[in-house]
Amino acid sequence: MTERNFVTVNPCVMCQPMGSVLAFKGVENSMVLMHGSQGCSTYMRLHLAHHFREPVDIASSSLSERGAVYGGSENLKKGLHNVIDRYHPSVIGVATTCMAETIGDDVPNIIQEFKEENGIGDDISKDIQIIPVSTPSYSDSHVNGYIKALDAIVRHLTRDTGESIPNGKVNIIPTEHLSPADIRELKQIATDMPEQCILLPDISDTFDAPIQDDFPKIALGGTSISDIADMVNSSASLGLGSIMNNPPVDYLAEKHGVPGITVPLPIGLKQTDLFFDALSRISGSTVPDKYVNERGRLIDAMVDVHKYLYGVRVALYGDPEKVRGMVSLMLEVGMHPVLMVSGSKSPDFKRTVESMIKEARPDCDTIVLDGVDFDTFNDAIRSTRPDLLVGDSNGKYISKAEGIPLVRVGLPIHDRVGAQRLLMVGYRGAMELIDRITNTIFEAKEKEEPTIQMCSL
Ligand code: SF4
Repeated sequence: MTERNFVTVNPCVMCQPMGSVLAFKGVENSMVLMHGSQGCSTYMRLHLAHHFREPVDIASSSLSERGAVYGGSENLKKGLHNVIDRYHPSVIGVATTCMAETIGDDVPNIIQEFKEENGIGDDISKDIQIIPVSTPSYSDSHVNGYIKALDAIVRHLTRDTGESIPNGKVNIIPTEHLSPADIRELKQIATDMPEQCILLPDISDTFDAPIQDDFPKIALGGTSISDIADMVNSSASLGLGSIMNNPPVDYLAEKHGVPGITVPLPIGLKQTDLFFDALSRISGSTVPDKYVNERGRLIDAMVDVHKYLYGVRVALYGDPEKVRGMVSLMLEVGMHPVLMVSGSKSPDFKRTVESMIKEARPDCDTIVLDGVDFDTFNDAIRSTRPDLLVGDSNGKYISKAEGIPLVRVGLPIHDRVGAQRLLMVGYRGAMELIDRITNTIFEAKEKEEPTIQMCSL
């Protein structure tokens, strides 16, 4: 493998403010303003529009040379005026780009000045909420930008009301972006348990909207401000993802006394069981027959595909918590995860994944890398020679060059349609994943041996 620490070639992550966009777009009637140069918001708009196949509006303060030298206060204030005039949002997320961070603009202070100059108060029921998030892309990835934005949203929109009025709901807060289909599934499961939930961020409609005659400037849907404010009255917070910290769950526990439980993303059998166990404990109800049957179908599907998947050498890459979930699922179906890569640096990824593999398959030779680029990943592919790649569409060049089939999961997926409808979570998500993986292996075998009969596979 190439030993480098001075250059990144083809990053395996997206930039930090992109993560904040994914979080803010899950809040009802919200708009995002990038404080920085125009190119940043153009890149993010295109990236997300190609993935979700939806129009994605992101404003920019359009900093140029003048702003870079004298500060971006004037541009940011003009940008806020324009966004309010044209979109009439309830929430504006102001995410900083590399340039704004480098010149050292004090964004919270500029926003405070803007509010005072325009008579905007702090009443969340009537005033526009302007929420700054510091997202310098040179220090962290989209994964950190996502959770930082969620933390800022929760801190900004929840208030200490003095007394708690229990709402009987559970807060569900993932540490990583999930597809609209995943969010819909989680909401359905929580409702069926039966436990009403406040899921933040809810992109199930905003990034997968039905066609409408009267096209709204801001996509309908998202977690409402009143629901976010009500999170302080919930019976518990359920954090999804335990590799990265979940600051909003911690904040709701420390500041408002809402007990927090953290489980891995419900990907695969074991991790979905943990999710249902946690919801059962919170709601005090048993798992409905519908999901007991789905679980049984998943095990049946695992038995069906085991003979095709056992021992298949797989390389997984992407966001740390999703890779961890997929490792869990791959081990459950007898696959051999030879290479696991997270583009984002995270303190616990390597240790967690290595211990999972050691426990389930101590005989497996594996390489686990975090915070690496596609160039390093490519070197590792050549040394481990997997049979299959599982990750986002940026891996297609390696897939083509090395002749290894690719199953597309995660974000971005630019060269296929339907990314917004890909389901990973829950028992149904696991079934869909193993079906896609098995069918990809069948297709690869058919290409190698065109005369092969399906029944002999
Ligand atoms: S990495 Fe920095 S400069 Fe590049 S698009 Fe992201 S925020 Fe803008």
